[in-house]
Amino acid sequence: MLLKDKVAIITGAASIRGLGRATAVLFAQQGAKVVIADLDEQASINAAKALPGEGHLGVAINVADEAQVQQAMEKILAKYGRIDVLVNNAGITQPLKVMDIQSGHYDAVLDVSLRGTLLMSQAVIPSMRKQKSGSIVCISSVSAQRGGGIFGGPHYSAAKAGVLGLAKAMARELGNDGIRVNCITPGLIQTDITQGKLSDTQKANIIAGIPLNRLGEAIDIARAALFLASDLASYSTGITLDVNGGMHMH
Ligand code: NAD
Repeated sequence: MLLKDKVAIITGAASIRGLGRATAVLFAQQGAKVVIADLDEQASINAAKALPGEGHLGVAINVADEAQVQQAMEKILAKYGRIDVLVNNAGITQPLKVMDIQSGHYDAVLDVSLRGTLLMSQAVIPSMRKQKSGSIVCISSVSAQRGGGIFGGPHYSAAKAGVLGLAKAMARELGNDGIRVNCITPGLIQTDITQGKLSDTQKANIIAGIPLNRLGEAIDIARAALFLASDLASYSTGITLDVNGGMHMH
């Protein structure tokens, strides 16, 4: 077991076909106590209950809201007294062209991915520092690297590129505390984030540009998250792990 008795918080993990949920299941199978942290409390509780093994927790959290993040963190620390892993997975996207992005769109997308990653990381760092160990995994996107062109608009690419910079800077600052910070850049993974707005023709066109000849599955990302969260990645910090079927090589 790669995460035996580790406490792992995964944001945005209630969505049933999502990357966060698949990561939560895999982490639980590997012995972790998993905290599902998503917007809706009952959905988080239900998702935690459905995980294999005992001792998981579901909490309501808007990762972009500092007060909610603090409140949830108090609950988590009261139950476990430590935090070993944080997966910054919560994110939303919008298929907009640059001239159609209004400040409300910008705020919504940037707040969840970028502000949320900062606030959640700030909330777990004190515990990780005390323990002198911890792993923070941030879910960015291939859109950050190739300038979108898949589904999300330029503001989404910017938010996810911001996550890459934030994670690397945190990795540099926190290495001496035994805290590793790394990113995953998924390609197009079959979840509900596109809300059915991607047509079969669009999908076929995307697959034509993928050497592995298929779209990604949530488990593909979960396995990468397990690598980065666990001691398998003990000498990796500040890295960006591409999990995109070869869609983008650089
Ligand atoms: P999803 O829509 O299935 O899940 C996203 C989850 O985040 C949902 O459960 C939602 O309730 C939650 N969430 C949204 N706003 C939140 C907030 N403010 N606070 C807490 N939780 C919030 O999407 P997914 O495809 O599983 O995406 C997971 C992550 O992976 C996102 O960051 C997304 O940008 C990224 N990503 C996805 C793909 C893809 O192709 N699916 C590709 C690259 C990156």
